[in-house]
Amino acid sequence: MNKTIAVIRGDGIGPEIVNEALKVLDKVAEKYGHTFTCDDVDMGGVAIDKWGDPLPQAMLDKCLAADSVLLGAVGGPNWEGLPGPQRPEKGLLRLRAGMGLYSNLRPAKLWPQLAQASPLKPSIVEKGIDFLVVRELISGIYFGEHKTVEENGEKVATDVMRYAEHEIERIGRIAFETAMKRRKKVTCVDKANVLDSSRLWRAVLHRVKEEYPEVEYGEMFVDNASMQLVKDPSQFDVIVTGNMFGDILSDEASMLTGTIGMIPSSSLGDGTRGMYEPIHGSAPDIAGQNKANPIGTILSAAMMLKYSFGMDAEAAAIEAAVNKALNDGVRTADMMAEGCTPVSCSEMGDAIAARI
Ligand code: NAD
Repeated sequence: MNKTIAVIRGDGIGPEIVNEALKVLDKVAEKYGHTFTCDDVDMGGVAIDKWGDPLPQAMLDKCLAADSVLLGAVGGPNWEGLPGPQRPEKGLLRLRAGMGLYSNLRPAKLWPQLAQASPLKPSIVEKGIDFLVVRELISGIYFGEHKTVEENGEKVATDVMRYAEHEIERIGRIAFETAMKRRKKVTCVDKANVLDSSRLWRAVLHRVKEEYPEVEYGEMFVDNASMQLVKDPSQFDVIVTGNMFGDILSDEASMLTGTIGMIPSSSLGDGTRGMYEPIHGSAPDIAGQNKANPIGTILSAAMMLKYSFGMDAEAAAIEAAVNKALNDGVRTADMMAEGCTPVSCSEMGDAIAARI
């Protein structure tokens, strides 16, 4: 197969981790006889510096023309003082909206080799952690109206959390379809005791669940869910939730599994073209030091092969190579343990590519 990938290296550790994912993809291409043609796209701080815009239209067009998009991370202290619409993260929000990527899948899986890196007690970890957060990505409070006005001599800020039925229905269907391929359990996480938008989520999901009688469906308030994730994460299979709750819970979920550096994600809309990125940010504290963990990005590339290109065997080969490297004790600094071999970001990429 011949596939075009729009590659967004971004800021901070972005270029370092994306290089390692491309190294692994090159190895897959060589082994399985594919051609991956990469088209570089500027987004985030790097695009602000070069073009004065976190995502110029020409860059969005490149993403729309590609078969899929691979992203490192954007943002950093250099651009933090800019007004909202000009900040690096705005490029990411515009990319998701421009590509119509409404569903974000974030698997939280504990690799047994990293069990000791989980902050949870062994008695909790032993039960296993393997769930997936299905997060709505292009609506809700991040996309509602934001405004700050003067009232009675002080500033008053408002952010609107808005959801339409069709937006809930399509993400709900993705959650149930995904659960059908897993342990057949969906938990809707919301704040229906307070928010109208959450009550609408529940009403719509009740309709969608009728189409999936095999799936066990439950509901949980977000405050309780954040506790339950720490108390007994093994109870979850698929969590479906809105944009902001999903953002927060998936970061919590990532820490349960040991390190944020391991977790990939996929963002998809109605077609097969998606955007794939690790769930962490640009880690400015370790940028340029060749010590970031590239596995989240490498596993994101594997998700791209599986979900956008239908290359299941190739994706499985990447996951198996990661497993082998971990079994062989190869570790970046964030997951280093006694008796293991510490490696740099690029050495981890080499180690995984060599095991494909
Ligand atoms: P972060 O995820 O960048 O970093 C949090 C901590 O995790 C840091 O200590 C960092 O060193 C560590 N870390 C993250 N990824 C790692 C990896 N691959 N290997 C080893 N350690 C890793 O979160 P932050 O510090 O809150 O944000 C930094 C910047 O990234 C901000 O500008 C933020 O807006 C941006 N951000 C971007 C995205 C994105 O591009 N999708 C997502 C989140 C945050």
